[in-house]
Amino acid sequence: MINSGTAEVLIPRSLCLIEDFDNLNIDVEDLCSVSINWKDGVVTELKPLKNKDKKAKNILFPRFVETHSHFDKSFIWEDFPNLKSNYGGALSLNLEEHKTRTTDKVLERVEKSLKLAIKNGYRAIRSHIDTYETQSSDIWIELFELQKKFSSELTLQFVSLAPLEFWDTPNGENLAKIFSSNGGILGGVIVPPFNKKDTSQFLSKMLLLARKYNLEIDLHIDESIIEPGAGIKVLLETIENLKINSIPITCSHLSSLISLSHSEILNLGEKMAENNIKVIALPLTNFWLLNRDNKTTSLKRPVAPIKQLQKSHVDVSLGSDNVQDPWYPFGNFDPFYMLSCSIPMLQLSPWERMTLSSIFLAPSRLLNLKWDGLIKEGCPADFIILDAQKWADVFSSNLKRKVFIKGELHS
Ligand SMILES: [Zn+2]
Repeated sequence: MINSGTAEVLIPRSLCLIEDFDNLNIDVEDLCSVSINWKDGVVTELKPLKNKDKKAKNILFPRFVETHSHFDKSFIWEDFPNLKSNYGGALSLNLEEHKTRTTDKVLERVEKSLKLAIKNGYRAIRSHIDTYETQSSDIWIELFELQKKFSSELTLQFVSLAPLEFWDTPNGENLAKIFSSNGGILGGVIVPPFNKKDTSQFLSKMLLLARKYNLEIDLHIDESIIEPGAGIKVLLETIENLKINSIPITCSHLSSLISLSHSEILNLGEKMAENNIKVIALPLTNFWLLNRDNKTTSLKRPVAPIKQLQKSHVDVSLGSDNVQDPWYPFGNFDPFYMLSCSIPMLQLSPWERMTLSSIFLAPSRLLNLKWDGLIKEGCPADFIILDAQKWADVFSSNLKRKVFIKGELHS
């Protein structure tokens, strides 16, 4: 049958739930040798490889989850190149692009991005979509159609990325209503310098709107090098004043936090964990855009302090962010591109459980997916099998992969 199969593979130990744990053969990089069977798209057997001297020739991962992308502007770099590559330049080109934006152009970019993402091994993606007052809400009907069209291969979530004040307008309320029946997440930007009082007021309106329609929030917050943590502090204060901490909130970026003292980070982290705020670290755009001085080379680059936040029990996911647009000129919706760049730059060891959590498990929780990403009997046969025997092979330029969707080889 085309959706059944068997393989001898290596799986990172912390991604693999196996009954016969005592007989597992685990190598120095925490990869364990197992044989895996799947039938009708579901894993039916997972057991240690009997021959302890024989190392499997392939590594298996669950299909990936992308927590943060921007499908609506992907691949526009050629038309809107931000050659100075700073935040200000990216923002002004982004606004320039809105002037020529049409629903058809956006749909074309989304569809192209989706096909690539599926081919490269993603099973779920959250994408922000720029939202502004003059835009027709009709675009959302088309986007939700696309979401349905691809739903057998990939779970797609949309965040409406709007100025905070948008959520205090009739159009904002109308969109929240549409989201309450179709799915959809309220988004916004909090990046210093900002007026603290106004920001807090608009945030309050947004939180109340999310509560009214039972929606989640995902904010681009503290993507800066100035006023470290100013955005997250306002958010926490606003939540405290409103006395509502039941709304699922994601903070994307939080890169300036790294400039705070160790104890301040832990302190903020604890408050975030108490309020069930999740974090997405986005090293590629942060390292590319922020603290850029084209005359000197500096190593001072902000990125969310992943390990400190994890220590404070905050659920941290890794994400890719932009692909070939004014914010980031590279990328191809390939999880292995993102990891090959990010893992060394962040000093995250791939053989460590918390690193793998930020790549596979935390993203599955963030998107509320049915499957947590652990390979076990009964899980979907949704995986990528690589021609690889060690982590160095995974992060190499000539990676060969096979993507299986519900047990079937994707071609
Ligand atoms: Zn973003």
